[in-house]
Order: sequence, then C-alpha cells, then structure tokens
Amino acid sequence: MQEHNDDVARSHGFGDLAFAQIKGRRLDAMPRNYEVWYTYASGYHAELSDAINVILSERGAITQEQLDGVYEAHLSPNRLTDKIDVVGNRVMDEIEQVMAMIDSAAGQASAYGNDLAGASARLAAVGTPEGVRTIIETLVRSTREIEANNKALEQRLKASRSEIQQLQENLDAVRTESLTDPLTSLGNRKFYDQAITKAVALANKSERPLCLLVSDIDHFKKFNDTFGHLTGDQVLRLVALSVKQNVKTQDLACRYGGEEFAIILPDTTLRAAVTVAEHIRRSVMTKELIKRSTSENLGRITISLGVAAFKPGDTVATLYDRADQCLYSAKRNGRNRVVCETDPEAEMLDVKVA
Ligand code: GH3
Ligand code: MG
Ligand code: MG
Repeated sequence: MQEHNDDVARSHGFGDLAFAQIKGRRLDAMPRNYEVWYTYASGYHAELSDAINVILSERGAITQEQLDGVYEAHLSPNRLTDKIDVVGNRVMDEIEQVMAMIDSAAGQASAYGNDLAGASARLAAVGTPEGVRTIIETLVRSTREIEANNKALEQRLKASRSEIQQLQENLDAVRTESLTDPLTSLGNRKFYDQAITKAVALANKSERPLCLLVSDIDHFKKFNDTFGHLTGDQVLRLVALSVKQNVKTQDLACRYGGEEFAIILPDTTLRAAVTVAEHIRRSVMTKELIKRSTSENLGRITISLGVAAFKPGDTVATLYDRADQCLYSAKRNGRNRVVCETDPEAEMLDVKVA
C-alpha cells in the first residue's frame, strides 16, 4: 500500500511539474497542453522529450503552435490516420499533376501529327524552292517544340518518381509505428497476429521448422503492488531488452499483451528454440533492478517460458495453445524456468494418458 502511495505521489509530482511548465511559460492550461507536459515530465516518451528539447535548445521557449505540433506528432490518437491522409492526399495530387501533363503531351503530339500531315499535303502542291523552305522551317519549329515538351515531361516524371519514393518511405514509417508497441518498441499484438499468420502458412507449405516461444513475468502483480505500476513498466522495458539481445534478426519478438511476450522463431528447431528461451530467462534473472530516481535496489525478477514447435496441420491457435500450456507447466513447476512440449513436466491437455 505504501508503494502504491509512492506511485500516486510520483504521478502527483509529474502533474506538478507539468503545471509549473504551463504556468511558467504562460501557456493555456488546457488538457492537451497538460498531457504534453505531463508526458515530458515523466520522461517515458523519449521521442516527445527529444522534440521538446530540440525546440527549447534553439529558442529557450516554445509556442502554442509548436506544442500543438508536438501533440499531433506524438500523442494525438488520430496521428496515424492523419499521417496516412496526408500521404494519400499528396499521392492524389501527384497523380493529378502527372495526368494533366500526360494529357497535354498527348494533345501536343496529335497537333504535331496534324502539322506533319498538313505539311505533306502542302509540299505536294508547292511550286517554288522558297515555298519548300517555309514549310520545312515550320516543321523544324514544331519538332523543336515537341522535343522541349518531351524533355519537360521526362523531368516532371523523374521528379514525380522521387516524390512517390519519399511518400512510400513515409507510409512505411507510419506502418512500422502502427505495428510497434511504444513502451518496449517490440512488435505489438497486431504485428504478432500478422506475423504468426504468415509464419504458420509458410510452415504448412514449406515443411521448414517454426517455433513459438511465449513468456510471462513471474509474480508481476506483487512487483507492481510493491514498487508501483510505473516502475513495473520500466521492468517490462528491461525484459524486452533481454528478449532483443537474445534473438536473431529473422526472429519476431512481440509484446503479446500486458506482461506477456511472444517470439516467433522461423527456421528454428525445438532444441534451438529452447536454447534461445534459456538465454532470455537467464538474461532477465541476472539483471539487477535499480530504481533510477532513488538508486534503490529492487532485487531481481524472473520469467517463465513455454516453447512449442510447429506440427503439420497446426493453426495459429493450436500452436499458441501448446506454447501457452508449456508456459503454465513452467509456472506450476516453480516458475523461472523454460518448458517445451517434449519435457516430462509439460502437461499437454491434448495428450491422452493410457
Ligand atoms: P504469475 O504470472 O507468476 O502467475 O503471477 P503474476 O502476478 O505475474 O500473474 P499474472 O501474470 O496473471 O499477472 C498479471 C499482472 O501483470 C497484472 C498486472 O499487475 C501486471 N501487468 C499487466 N500489464 C502490465 C503493464 O502494462 N504494466 C505493468 N506495470 N504491469 C502490468
Ligand atoms: Mg500474465
Ligand atoms: Mg505473470
């Protein structure tokens, strides 16, 4: 209870700092401003803090317009759809301009065709060398014009190509953001759902091995109750770091839910997956938790892990269920351990006992 009170006191501290910023900078005390400064005070949103620090380091002050920009870029619940709208509108503009350019080029080409046809008829009727020269001069002029227009079109298309490439990069960044968990910067649940669906489909087709690893922090409720939810969040980041440090680039590490992580290991045998799980487990348990604000030592935490290997005919759900059953066997057998489906302690519900 004392620690819960600490958490409350801490959040009041952030609130006080936020309000002091609003008052000191003579800003409007509207909830939006408060949210920006509260987040800044907590230090939990590195990108938002960086953005504000850059503005402050340049001018020492921040305008309402700049604050609105920070809110829109980092906190607004609509920011992803807004960003997609902006990219979409720019793509539409680009397409419209290129279409107009193509229409005008087509018109010029057909006018040039008419010039040529007219010249050919006039050449047949012309009687003097002077008359021939005039016709040829007209033809040379229209040829130069059409050449210049073609060049302009080519340049416009080149510019458009690089603009579209830039827009594609913007869209990729939005997509990555929409699939990333902001606290741990691992893939979020949506990312997991997409990735496991693809991985299972591939394994069903290719007969290549695939493993799924699920983890859950041990007695995390007690940790939160003792040290506060905000400190608990920092522990989640630490566990995520242990996960990142122990997987390869082809592996897909995700925050499945609150304090549960799922790691998809393509092209990995059960044995190798158990080794990865063991490395993560040890990495977590050897980290000493020090509270940055007070240098207080919070001891250590442990995690339990379950590992399942893909079997032909598996669906996303059956594979996850087996990994989850292993995880709960790990919990039942004392926690801080890895259990895989071939371990004797794995109590698989679909295993029939004779
Ligand atoms: P065990 O898994 O060992 O059986 O015990 P547990 O206490 O960890 O039990 P369980 O996994 O059911 O607990 C989930 C707890 O995790 C509840 C909540 O306090 C905490 N939790 C879930 N999501 C978050 C989160 O995003 N941040 C923080 N700080 N805590 C979370
Ligand atoms: Mg849990
Ligand atoms: Mg737990």
